[in-house]
Amino acid sequence: MRRKLVIGNWKMHGGVEENLALIQQLLDDKYFQDKNFQMGICPVTLHIPQVADLIQKRSHILLGAQNANEHQSGAFTGEVSAKMLAEYGVNIVLLGHSERRTLFAETDALIAAKFKAVIEQQLTPVLCIGESLAQREQEQTESVILAQLETVLDKVGRNDFANCIIAYEPIWAIGTGETATPDQAQCVHHCIRQWLHEKLGNKAATMSIIYGGSVKPDNAETLFSQEDIDGGLIGGASLDAKSFIAICAAAQ
Ligand code: PEP
Repeated sequence: MRRKLVIGNWKMHGGVEENLALIQQLLDDKYFQDKNFQMGICPVTLHIPQVADLIQKRSHILLGAQNANEHQSGAFTGEVSAKMLAEYGVNIVLLGHSERRTLFAETDALIAAKFKAVIEQQLTPVLCIGESLAQREQEQTESVILAQLETVLDKVGRNDFANCIIAYEPIWAIGTGETATPDQAQCVHHCIRQWLHEKLGNKAATMSIIYGGSVKPDNAETLFSQEDIDGGLIGGASLDAKSFIAICAAAQ
């Protein structure tokens, strides 16, 4: 059975007081009755210990990081490794977010190396993939996302790849207010699902594919009701407890 997930990517937002206020509202179990549902939150690295402390290993909340270095330790000034994240109770790590790919020049090969480092620490990678507007207009969506997936699969092999969550995030929909229509999103999710079955056989059956890109309380339900969409990766709307809880409710 595929897990239903809604993961909040806080990006470089938050602060000690804001985090406390937001998390307190997310701790209320009454919003999370579906045992097959999990919520994830990904604060900035510096705030991970604070958030870990606040959520105290609640089973319905996954603690996430937004990035990890491809090495476990060494002379890499300013970086944080998956090994260090694991020590603070992190469960999931976002990899290949389009902001990392575009603003920090992360390549598919680097993302594959990071994926390997995350898996080595028994953490779950959330592998973000997606096409730009120009690529969509040139009908390259499928080839772009499959190439992003193939590079990681080639590096880590079928067994490790099967342990990830995939987040399809069309770049043109991230932070723009423009969402893929439910049909557009479903079409790409279906293509990813088929590819997973082709490459991984039975192992693919339990893998979740979530959608990201301007998901809000008013569009979450139609997106999440699509057959191959198992939840969402949420940026802006995850910073507001009411909106995030409403999006979580739409996935349950
Ligand atoms: C994201 O950052 O992954 C994202 C989907 O952002 P937003 O929801 O703000 O578009």
